[in-house]
Order: sequence, then C-alpha cells, then structure tokens
Amino acid sequence: MIAENKASRLQGKVRNIKKISLTALLSGLVSISVLMTLTIMFISSYTSQKQSLIDNTLSLNYSSAAQMSQTLDSLFQSMQNSLKYAADYFPQMDYSDTEKLDSTLELIRSSSNFFNSVTLVDDKGVIRSASPYSNKNIGMQISSNAAKKAFESRASYISEAYQSPLSKRRIVFVSEPIFDAAGVFKGMIGGNIFLQENNILNLSFGSQLKTSNGSYFFIVDAKGTLLFHPDTKRIGENISKNEVVQKLLDNQTGKEQYKNLAGVDSLAGYQKVPATDWGVVVVSPTQTVYDQLNEHIRMLLLYTSVPFLILTLIVIRVARKLASPFVYLADLVHQVDQGKVDLPTMRPHWNREADLLTRTVLGALANFRKQTDQLTYDARTDVLTGMTNRRTFEEVIQQWIDEQVTFSIIVIDIDRFKSINDTYGHHAGDQVLKHIAGLIKLAVRPQDVSSRFGGEEFVVLLRHTESDTAYQIAEYIRISVEASIMPVDRSVTISAGIAEYPLHSSSATELFHLADNALYQAKEEGRNRTVTIQTVEK
Ligand code: GH3
Ligand code: MG
Ligand code: MG
Repeated sequence: MIAENKASRLQGKVRNIKKISLTALLSGLVSISVLMTLTIMFISSYTSQKQSLIDNTLSLNYSSAAQMSQTLDSLFQSMQNSLKYAADYFPQMDYSDTEKLDSTLELIRSSSNFFNSVTLVDDKGVIRSASPYSNKNIGMQISSNAAKKAFESRASYISEAYQSPLSKRRIVFVSEPIFDAAGVFKGMIGGNIFLQENNILNLSFGSQLKTSNGSYFFIVDAKGTLLFHPDTKRIGENISKNEVVQKLLDNQTGKEQYKNLAGVDSLAGYQKVPATDWGVVVVSPTQTVYDQLNEHIRMLLLYTSVPFLILTLIVIRVARKLASPFVYLADLVHQVDQGKVDLPTMRPHWNREADLLTRTVLGALANFRKQTDQLTYDARTDVLTGMTNRRTFEEVIQQWIDEQVTFSIIVIDIDRFKSINDTYGHHAGDQVLKHIAGLIKLAVRPQDVSSRFGGEEFVVLLRHTESDTAYQIAEYIRISVEASIMPVDRSVTISAGIAEYPLHSSSATELFHLADNALYQAKEEGRNRTVTIQTVEK
C-alpha cells in the first residue's frame, strides 16, 4: 500500500516536470553554440588585438622617439656649426664698431632662426653686442651661471635648462668660444633658446605636438627638466621621478608601458639625444589603444552579427525540419494512445533515420490496432455462431435504456434440444445452433442486435420496436425455423418470449426476466410458439 502510494506520487512528479520539446531543444542548442562561438571569437579577437595594438604603439613610439632624437641631434650640430662659423669671423672685427657688431649678430640670428637671441661676449666676459638689441645688457658682465660656465670652459657648450635671473625666462644656452689666429681666447658667441616662446624646437617639432590618436612627446634635459612639452606651462618642471625619465637619466633607451606622474597608464618610447644628452619621450595614453580596440570590436560586431543571425535562423529552420518527423510521430502516438485519430498513410522523409522510424512506428501502430481490434471482436463475439455474445447484449441493452429509446426484447429457446444432442450427437447439435443463428440474423434489421445468450438460448433486441411488431418478427423467425431444412433429418422448433421497454419494465434485468417468463409460458403452453408478457392491469 505504502509502496503503491510512493509509486503514484513519483509518477505525478514525473508528469509535473516541464518537458522540453525536441524543436526547442535543438533550436536552443544551436542558439547557444552560435552565441558561444561569437563570444569566444570576440574574446580571442579582443585579447590578441589588444596585445598587438599595445606592441605596435610601443614600437611606433620608440621609432618616433628615435627619429626625433636624430633630428634634434643634427639640429644642435647645425646650431653649433653656425656659431662656430661666426666665431671664426669675429676675431677679424673691430669690437669698437658697435654698429657693425650689432648688424652682424642680427644677421646671424635672423639667417638661421636657430636662436631667440644671440650675444657676443668679449675676452673679459663683458657683453659687447646682442640681437635683438638690448640696452640693458650691453657693457654688462655676464651674470647667468650657464654663460659663466660656458665662458670658463672656453669650449663648445650646451647648457641645461635654467631660469634667467633677470627676465625669468626658461632658457637653453648654446655657445662657441672665439679664438684669434694665434689661438688667443677672444670671448664667445652664444645663442639662447627661450623654451616657453616660439623657438626652433616649436618650429621643427610643433606639427608633431599632438596627434589625432592622443599621442604626444616631450623633451627633458640631462637633469630631467622639461624643455619641451605640449603643455607649455610645464616647461621647466623637473620630472625626474617619472619612471621613463629615470631610465633616460640612466642613459637607457627603450619602450615600455608605465604610469606617468599623474597616474595615467601610458605607452612610451624613449631615446637619448647624443649631442645634448637630452631625452625624447613619445607617449600614447593606453586608453587610446582601448578606444581603438573598442571601435574595432564594435565594427566586428556590426559586420558579424547579421551573417551570424542569418546563419542561426537557417540552422534553427533545419533543426525544426529535422525534428519535425519526430514531433509528428510523438503527437501521432499520443493521439492514437488517446484513441483520437485513425492511422495516417506513411509520408516518406528525406532523413534516413526519421524515415525508418516513421515506417516502424506506423507499422507497429497498425499491428497494435489490428490486434486490439481482434481482441475486441473476440471479447464481443460468440465463436460458434458469430453472433454477438451475452456481454455485448448486456452492454447494448443498458446503452439503449440510457438513451431511452423504445425497444423490444425476444428471448428464444430451442425446443427439446437435449434430445437432438442425444440423438445426433453434440456436433450435429452445434450445426443446428449455427443454422438457427443464421436464420435469426437474416430476420432482423442492421440496427437490431441478435446475440447468443448461452446454451441454446438467443436474445434479439429490436430498436424502436413495440412488442406487437416484435411479436410478428418473433413469429417470422419461429416459422422460418420450423420450415427450414435442418442439418439433422428432422424439423426443429423454437419458443420465444417478448417484453417491451419501457412499457413492461424500465430495468434491464427485470425486462429480461419478464421476457424469459413469457418464454417459460410458451414452453408451458406446448412449445413452438411466441408469448408476449402480459402485465397485470393496475
Ligand atoms: P426445452 O424444450 O424444455 O428447452 O428442452 P431442452 O432439451 O431444450 O432443454 P434443456 O435445458 O434440458 O437442454 C438444453 C440442452 O442444450 C442441454 C445441453 O446438452 C444442450 N446444449 C447447451 N449448449 C450446447 C452447445 O453449445 N452445443 C450443443 N450441441 N448442445 C448444447
Ligand atoms: Mg434452454
Ligand atoms: Mg431448450
């Protein structure tokens, strides 16, 4: 009992679990695989593209830095050469001819654009001329440390960036010593580059200041002070704490991903400038690489999503087509199981397995149908006479009572059948039974039901028939039996009893009982006759 409960609960559970259809399953699988393929594709594309973009940017910045360093190097060599050329010229000049000196300096400055200003210093360290001309300085002793150092060195000199104590300008000072033919020191000629103003660096590199992808470059001197930066306010700032600048101060060149002083992740290429010992750094914020990458992925998504969508739809369609015979079969078996449909004719299918399965299932269903039909027939039929049997009779009578149609029942019994058996044997008796059954069947209409009730008794149910008509039919049967040539060489007779629904009774059992009583009466009255039950008048 407990086990039974358990089993039924389990069955209920199985029934309650939501079942996924084959089509949904296949379509789902396809969609998931497409989605996963896309995701994997995007992830792998993203990672590989990211690394190659970073590597490319680093290499590009490194080679830009190298190029700039070379340009700067040759620029400073040209500057020094032009000063050297001038330095050779000055010993032949009369330093007291100030006008001549001024115009010569003006010519030197304006002819090359290398310097913002040019100064001539004599062998005592006194400024003798300047271009552009400045009253304040002429005749003054040189004051800046850079100029003093240059003066003392009596050699080619490039200063670090310094702030002029007078003008507060950020300056780089380049100078050449002047020697006469005898090799006596005669002073120096110096050029100033004003870092925060329009200068030769701007002129040479200004166009490369900031590119469209956010890359920029800056130049630091040998102490890590900014000489050139897109943000001019920062010029003169010491950024030696910057990771990359530190490497430059250590005389290294290279490329790397680092965080700048503002904490911005950047990709830098850096190079030393041999002539000046400065460093050039070309920088791209790493974010620009990510922006490019996102744009790339966006485009990829745009171009791949449409074909992928179409592909998914096609595959889902194919999946549906593949699943359709199985879905059809499942529905069919379900409907056949519920007795809803007749078996359809076989439709061939392009898929071999589906075709085979459809064939097999339809064959099995047809076979099953045939067997159940046979079983049903056997259960409802009397083997000897081929008439319906007592069970069917009971079903039909109940059905008609439920429908409340008027009908009559005839109960028939063969007269003195025992003696036929006794005289001719059981087999001959069977033949007589079959023969009489045939006569009864011939006498009734298709809508009537004649059954072998048992032994040598038959019942006939006459639909929409009152007992008067039933009497005539019973009499017809009785006479045709009596007149018929029997399988045995003597005539056989029958007796019949009749009752009518609902006239005589509205209960199946009682109605049969009444008809049987009438039959008994017919036997009593001498057999070979028909009696309709007479109800007592109320
Ligand atoms: P009555 O006129 O009173 O009906 O006499 P009866 O001999 O027909 O009545 P009874 O009921 O005594 O005998 C019925 C006989 O029918 C008994 C049995 O041997 C025979 N019988 C019943 N079923 C079959 C059958 O299937 N085949 C054959 N051959 N005989 C059967
Ligand atoms: Mg009998
Ligand atoms: Mg009998």
